[in-house]
Amino acid sequence: MTAKPAKSPTLTASKMSIKVKLTVWFTLVTFILFVAVQGFMLIIDGASVVDDAGDLLVSEVQRNMKKVSEGENGKPDVGAIKFSSNGVYISVYDKGGRFLSGAVPFELEETFQSGVTRRVSGPEGGYLLYDSYVELSSGGVWVRGLTPADSSDTLWETMKNLSAYTLPLVITLGALGGYLVATGALKPIRRITEAAGAINDGNDLSLRIGLGSPGSHDELQKLSDTFDSMFARLEKSFNDERRFTSDVSHELRTPTTVILAECDYTRKHAQSPEDYKMALEVISRQAKKMSRLVESLLSLSRLDLGTVKANFEVGDLSEMLTVICSEMSLAGSRGITMCTDIESGISANMDVTLMSRLIQNLIDNAYKYGRDNGSVEVALRSEGRFAVLIVSDNGVGISKENLDKIWQRFYQEDSSRSGGEGLGLGLSMVKQIAQLHGGSVAAESAPGQGSTFTVKIPKI
Ligand code: ADP
Repeated sequence: MTAKPAKSPTLTASKMSIKVKLTVWFTLVTFILFVAVQGFMLIIDGASVVDDAGDLLVSEVQRNMKKVSEGENGKPDVGAIKFSSNGVYISVYDKGGRFLSGAVPFELEETFQSGVTRRVSGPEGGYLLYDSYVELSSGGVWVRGLTPADSSDTLWETMKNLSAYTLPLVITLGALGGYLVATGALKPIRRITEAAGAINDGNDLSLRIGLGSPGSHDELQKLSDTFDSMFARLEKSFNDERRFTSDVSHELRTPTTVILAECDYTRKHAQSPEDYKMALEVISRQAKKMSRLVESLLSLSRLDLGTVKANFEVGDLSEMLTVICSEMSLAGSRGITMCTDIESGISANMDVTLMSRLIQNLIDNAYKYGRDNGSVEVALRSEGRFAVLIVSDNGVGISKENLDKIWQRFYQEDSSRSGGEGLGLGLSMVKQIAQLHGGSVAAESAPGQGSTFTVKIPKI
């Protein structure tokens, strides 16, 4: 039994699902916004209430000031004054500050200042105070106004009461909104997870997420597309791998079967040394084929895995091609002749071994699939920044529908054409080597007329 790994604290901390986190955040932000807006309103309203109260105070004092007149017996007449109006208390004092008449909410020891609004504190909070002096021949009088300044306290109370009802509603709406937004936003992720899980459980790489909302280019759509193309690539490479394994088994089974059958037959029926010699020749031919196959497979898989660290060096491609052509033209068969047109002095940064294999494979094919007494042409020229190698023959050619398949491993249009020599791996190797050199290879062909293979690699 394997022990369960201890849970790390960071994992525990992030246990909350993203949906819950988003909902909590949304609720929190809504709450903070609500409080901020309430506070802001309170400040704005509070200030404007004070401003309004101040204006009212001044206008009430000034209105009542006009009602002060010269009285009989040398005393000012203040009888017309309204001592309490619109929440403003008005009182009148003589020049020396002695109270004459009026309404005062509390005792106030405050020196008189004409035309200045001040804040004073009373027993039940702040008040605004405003004095104005009226000059009379019988002696001046002070008209004093007082009004409560902290009406914002009542506003605060109102807001508190209001919040008691609205806050739970706002929080509930915030939480609900957060939950809905999170659920909607995370829906595609759930689909991605489900699809990936289904692929994992069922081992079915042909499944796709396919969020497929046309015109949508958001991040999740891109993520889903990336996953889908990754699944497509995985599916292709698994299929290729499967086909390759089955092809390899098939290719190895044929010579193995022939060898076993030959051994069996010889054991039972061979009588003379000639019989044994013939059997050995068959076995040797099949063993050589197996050996070539294994060799080629090894080279290909090393190229695939990148374990063949290509040994790049600047080399004279023209010279290398000339040497290979002269060697291979000597080994030519079936009356096939070789013509060369090699531009001299073309160099490239190349792996000499791999590049010679590329050239040999192409010339080998041109001979194998060439016409009896036909010709093979090999040319090398420089085109822009590329060295262009062309190998053509006037042999059997390749049908148009099969032209794309010749690069696939183990593809052989007709194995009998190569006299049982072909493995179907040569061109796949040619393509890989050309690409390794930063180049490309293309084929043109017409059945019965011949084929032309063109390799382009960057030259020096
Ligand atoms: P093989 O070992 O069969 O030659 P290749 O990978 O070199 O394997 O070639 C794949 C197939 O492409 C061959 O089986 C043959 O059908 C076709 N092919 C390649 N070169 C030529 C050519 N010069 N002319 C006609 N067919 C060709």
